[in-house]
Amino acid sequence: MLDAGRHPKINLLSYCEVEEVSGEVGAFQVKVRKKARYVNEDLCTGCGACVEKCPTTVKDTYNEGLGERTAIYKYFPQGIPSTHCIDAENCRQLGQGKKCGICAKVCQANAIDFEQQDQMLDLEVGAVVLATGYDVFDPSVIPEYAYDRIDNVVTAMEFERLLSASGPTHGHLDRPSELALRAEVAVLEKDLNKVSRQIDRLEEKHGKKTAEFLKEFEAGKAGEDEDFERWATLAEKQTAAEKVLAPLKKREAAAQTAKNLAFIQCVGSRDFRFNRFCSSYCCMHSVKEAMIAHEHDNQTTSSIFCMDLRAVGRGFEEYKLRGGKSSNIKYVRGRVAEITEDEAHNPIVWYESTTSRQVDHETFDLVILATACVPSAGTPKLADLMGVELDQNGFFKTDPFAPLDTTRPGIFVCGCAQGPMDIPESVAQASSAAARAAEVVATVPKAAAGGGE
Ligand SMILES: Cc1cc2nc3c(=O)[nH]c(=O)nc-3n(C[C@H](O)[C@H](O)[C@H](O)COP(=O)(O)OP(=O)(O)OC[C@H]3O[C@@H](n4cnc5c(N)ncnc54)[C@H](O)[C@@H]3O)c2cc1C
Ligand code: SF4
Ligand code: SF4
Repeated sequence: MLDAGRHPKINLLSYCEVEEVSGEVGAFQVKVRKKARYVNEDLCTGCGACVEKCPTTVKDTYNEGLGERTAIYKYFPQGIPSTHCIDAENCRQLGQGKKCGICAKVCQANAIDFEQQDQMLDLEVGAVVLATGYDVFDPSVIPEYAYDRIDNVVTAMEFERLLSASGPTHGHLDRPSELALRAEVAVLEKDLNKVSRQIDRLEEKHGKKTAEFLKEFEAGKAGEDEDFERWATLAEKQTAAEKVLAPLKKREAAAQTAKNLAFIQCVGSRDFRFNRFCSSYCCMHSVKEAMIAHEHDNQTTSSIFCMDLRAVGRGFEEYKLRGGKSSNIKYVRGRVAEITEDEAHNPIVWYESTTSRQVDHETFDLVILATACVPSAGTPKLADLMGVELDQNGFFKTDPFAPLDTTRPGIFVCGCAQGPMDIPESVAQASSAAARAAEVVATVPKAAAGGGE
C-alpha cells in the first residue's frame, strides 16, 4: 500500500466515490466524487494534535464499535494518505451548529478547512477493476446464537480487534461484559464525583461535615437555610450511588481476561437459510486467532466447533495440526444448536458431537462466531452504475473460464468482490486483473476510438 501511494504512475484517490460511468472498453468516462475531509491533506502532517483536543467522541467503526474515536480522526493508523478527516455529522461545529473549532486552534499546520467542499473529478480510463471486497454477515439474524443478547458472543472481526495491540484493549482479551461494566463504573463514578464536589462546597460553606449536618437536620435542629434541603438530597444521592458502585467495583476488580474460548464455524455460511456457499477463509482464521490468543497467554484453551475444518491450501493442514498440538486447540465436530448464558455472563455452548453422538454443553469465557463473507453493502448500486451483472449470491458475476471478467467488456473484478477468498488469492487475482486491464488498454482503445487495427 505504501509503495502504491508513492508510485509515480499510481494516482491514489481515497475517500472518493464513483458516481457515473459512461463510454465503453478502452474509453470509459468516470465521474468521481472526492468527498470533503475538512482537512487539507497537503498540509496535514498527521501529528494528531487535533485528535487529542477534540471534545466529541463516538463509537469507533474501525474497532467494530468496541472503542471510541473523536469527531476528527484517522480511520486507521496505517492509512494512506496519512491524513485526518472530520466526521461532519458528529462534529459540534459542522454538524450541530455549535461553536467549537478547537481542532483549528491547535493545528500548527493550519490544515483544518471548515469551508472545504466535495469536488467532482472527471477521469478518462481504458479499463476498470472492481476491488470493493466484502462485508461480514450479521449474525443477529440467527436467534439461537444470541449475538445481540449475550455480550460475550462476538464476531471474529470483533475478536481480531480485541486481540490487536492497536485495538480498543491494546491486545488484552477483556470481555465485552467487562468493558461494559468498566464503562458503567466510569459513568457512575463521574456522577458521584460531581455530587461529592457539591457536598464538599456545602461542607466548606457551613463549616461542618455532612454526617454532623444530617444528624442535626434529621433531629430538626439544623436551623433555617436555603441550602439545607439540597444538602440532604445530595447526601442521600451520594449514599445511594456508593451502594450501587461498591459491588460493581468489586466485580470489576475480580474480572479476568478471557482464557477459555469457543469458535463457532460456518455462521451464516453453508446454511440453507442464509448462504449456501462456504466462505473459504474462516476455518483458517479461527485457527490463526486461537493460536494468537495462546501466544498472548499460554493458559488459553480453544474449542473450534465445525462440521469439518476446511484446511485447503499448501501447509494449511499442518498449521491446523500444529494448533492442536502446541496451542491448546480442540477441534469438535458438530453443529452448535444454541448459546445461552450463566449468571456470570459466561456463554454456554449446546451442541451435538457428531463423533461421540452425544448432546453436550460447555461453558466458556468468550464465544467467537466465524461469520460468512457476504457481498459489500454497496455492491448492487455499484453493479447498476457499472452496468454489470451479479451472480446468484450477490457477488459480481464472472465467467468460470475468465474469472476476472465481469459481464461488461473492460470491467474486471478481483478479490472478495468476486466471491469469498483469502488474502493470497485476492492479491494474486489483483495482479491478474491489473494485467487484464493493461492488456485491454494496450490493445482495445484504437478499435474503440475508431482508429482501426
Ligand atoms: C475476521 C477475519 C479474519 C481474516 N483473517 C485472514 C487471514 O488471517 N489471512 C487471510 O488470508 N485472509 C483473512 N481474512 C480474509 C481477508 O479479509 C480477505 O481475503 C481480504 O480482505 C480480501 O481482500 P479484498 O481486497 O478483496 O477486500 P477488502 O479487504 O474487503 O477490501 C475492499 C476495500 O474496498 C473498499 N470499498 C468497498 N466498497 C467501495 C466502494 N463502493 N468504493 C470505494 N471503495 C470501496 C472497502 O472499504 C475496502 O477497503 C479474514 C477475514 C475475516 C472476516
Ligand atoms: S470543530 Fe470541535 S468537534 Fe469538530 S472536529 Fe474540531 S475539535 Fe472536534
Ligand atoms: S471456511 Fe470453514 S467456517 Fe468458513 S464457511 Fe467454509 S467450512 Fe464454514
